[in-house]
Amino acid sequence: MNYVERVLDSLKKQNPNEPEFHQAATEILTTLAPVVEKHPEYEDQALLERFVEPERVVLFRVPWVDDCGKVHVNKGYRVQFNSAIGPYKGGLRFHPSVNLSIIKFLGLEQILKNSLTGLPIGGGKGGSDFDPKGKSNREIMAFCQSFMTELYRHIGADTDVPAGDIGVGGREIGYLFGQYKRIRDEHVGVLTGRGLSYGGSLVRTEATGYGLVYIVNEAMKARGDSLKGKTVIISGSGNVATYACQKAQSLGAKVVAMYDSNGYIHDPDGIKLDLIKDIKEVKRGRIKEYADRVEGATYKEGCSGIWSIPCDVALPCATQNEIDEKSAATLVKNGVKYVGEGANMPSTLGAIDVFLKSGVVFLPAKAANAGGVATSALEMAQSSGRMFWSFEEVDAKLRNIMANIYRNIDKAAKDYGFDGNYVMGANIAGFVKVAEAMLAHGIV
Ligand code: NDP
Repeated sequence: MNYVERVLDSLKKQNPNEPEFHQAATEILTTLAPVVEKHPEYEDQALLERFVEPERVVLFRVPWVDDCGKVHVNKGYRVQFNSAIGPYKGGLRFHPSVNLSIIKFLGLEQILKNSLTGLPIGGGKGGSDFDPKGKSNREIMAFCQSFMTELYRHIGADTDVPAGDIGVGGREIGYLFGQYKRIRDEHVGVLTGRGLSYGGSLVRTEATGYGLVYIVNEAMKARGDSLKGKTVIISGSGNVATYACQKAQSLGAKVVAMYDSNGYIHDPDGIKLDLIKDIKEVKRGRIKEYADRVEGATYKEGCSGIWSIPCDVALPCATQNEIDEKSAATLVKNGVKYVGEGANMPSTLGAIDVFLKSGVVFLPAKAANAGGVATSALEMAQSSGRMFWSFEEVDAKLRNIMANIYRNIDKAAKDYGFDGNYVMGANIAGFVKVAEAMLAHGIV
């Protein structure tokens, strides 16, 4: 076995029952083989072994009381994975599927994503198996306050700065921040994705979706292509999906399908985004309602059927492993040319293989959805400097960051002889910077 294989083998033995973590580690480490070959000092210093082991894992009890007076207990997590290039940074996910494996896969990905932004942020991730669906505002607040009552002692503006993710939007960040401020008596940039009235940044809400479309657009420009007139499918109908849809439409694309966790809608005339926002954001309802309200639109139960709709560009923006090998093959058969991952690890390893072998331009999550965390880092900069930048200023910086990421992953892929393979490019470009910092710090 070579070095990478040995590290993966021992990771699987030491962390059994963590399939998502194994999947992310396999995807990353196998692409790093040419880098470790070029740098024998990495093996001497056990760099990969240290890279895949979180610096700290915090697991805690979150008790809270519902509106009927019943007591519930959830699990809370914060994985502080790697602080070599800056304070831990990464979102909090509230979803019943959350477990240590999922938080660790997200944390590992986050290290490289944050490195790719070019900004000084390390990698972390956290969350809970709490399900916000169907809960009242008071119950959400009670849960967030209890969650922060433990988390506060582990985070700080220069230590660890969490943000939102699935199930954690502006409302939850508000409650979490309120409780942090109350306990610590500090109004600091300890969370990002804050409201504009208390230290948030313009564009943070839109950033992940906009950034995704900016990088897809860069890849298209490099090939003399553009989004104008292209048919696009976007999975999900949450934060990332909504703003990816908005930006793609503003650049002239036609978005024809979206979904939520129950099923998908297909509107051949183009999705009316205001209606999606009204149903999902304002009323917190189900996407099914869209088909009842729009003539010509259809709704189907279940999610995977969305990938059988022919499109030029597919933007998975919901959750992990939503495109399997079969869905990827269907997309390719129907002519997809570009796939940009808005969600984290939405394509299985088999699906990625299909895309790469078919010559689809595949932009992996750690590069394609890095706009969110990059703008979080811009929010941190504004907080520290007590500044507030305009929408245009932040948007211009975001666009610039995404263009740089594209250039860097394209160059790294070329430098290592894998032209156009952005899985290789993103992993290598992200890793090299973290590895250099880790080497500089000695054995820590
Ligand atoms: P939201 O909670 O706002 O939206 C998630 C969307 O995905 C919802 O439409 C939800 O449906 C759907 N969804 C969730 N789980 C499933 C599932 N198991 N099957 C089908 N659909 C599902 O989350 P975000 O938009 O913030 O995040 C989406 C993805 O993007 C995640 O992978 C996240 O890690 C990633 N990401 C987010 C960033 C951000 O800035 N928000 C930054 C970088 C990555 P329903 O409405 O039914 O729950």
